[in-house]
Amino acid sequence: MLSDLVAALDIGGTKIAGALVDGRGGMLLRTRRATPAREGAETVMGAVEAVLAELAASPLWPRVGAVGIGSAGPVDASAGTVSPVNVPAWRNFPLVERVRRATGGLPVVLVGDGVAMTAAEHWQGAARGHDNALCMVVSTGVGGGLVLGGRLHTGPTGNAGHIGHISVDMDGDPCACGARGCVERIASGPHIAARALENGWRPGPDGDTTAVAVAAAARAGDPIATASFERAARALAAGIAATATLVEIDIAVIGGGVAGAGDVLFAPLRRSLRDYATLSFVRRLTVTPALTGADAGLLGAAAAAAPYRRGTAAEVTFTG
Ligand SMILES: [Zn+2]
Repeated sequence: MLSDLVAALDIGGTKIAGALVDGRGGMLLRTRRATPAREGAETVMGAVEAVLAELAASPLWPRVGAVGIGSAGPVDASAGTVSPVNVPAWRNFPLVERVRRATGGLPVVLVGDGVAMTAAEHWQGAARGHDNALCMVVSTGVGGGLVLGGRLHTGPTGNAGHIGHISVDMDGDPCACGARGCVERIASGPHIAARALENGWRPGPDGDTTAVAVAAAARAGDPIATASFERAARALAAGIAATATLVEIDIAVIGGGVAGAGDVLFAPLRRSLRDYATLSFVRRLTVTPALTGADAGLLGAAAAAAPYRRGTAAEVTFTG
């Protein structure tokens, strides 16, 4: 039987999405369930199994050669376990083993959501054709992943490239992770919004106090809203420049809701990058918006798992 498809799972704090994905990134079948994030471990797993059962009911299922999972982190790919911050009942939950059992022993590949987004952007998005790239999601949190030497660099546990929790302000505010002044502590959507509010910005008549509203205010010329995005942009620029200087990336791709602010974020980010990426080998670094959007998790999970398809010749790769 031809094993040309991958079953992809994208597991987050609000939804569990599944798809059957072909070798060109086509989504042949999709399904999703709300994540019962406040329920017990088995109830959450039940939602994953329901998504898998829907995929397995398809006449296409016999062509599936592997399962790829992109999960909210932290994940431990070496142990096959996940401990998503927003799913408290799952701590060191043996997701890989459970999915393998639910799918009759198919190969299962687990990556963190930042690494999944990176795989998606390298395969189908803005990092396509780049051998050395940093891809980031800037949203409620800040995550990321690396492509080095043309290959996805996952690290031993699947968390490499987690730029959200490198410190860009040594004496800065305490971060939820225990450190101080992390990129996420400054540049995530909630922190952009909180800083604008602290500094006196007030929402419009709709009462929207999210980063989306702050971005709209910045676009309309509000100086406090603009300053909050500029500070986020500086934090991102410092983190990107540090990464580029360490491992020589030539492109940084940014997705997630905060990237939707467009030039309100990208203009000061490109400006700040010139202040921090100063050495000759990083000066040509470019920053660009992500292209894979809401499908990034599924596409990336598929890309990560494709080389492991049962019956696949080792030289056949999905991601090249
Ligand atoms: Zn942190």
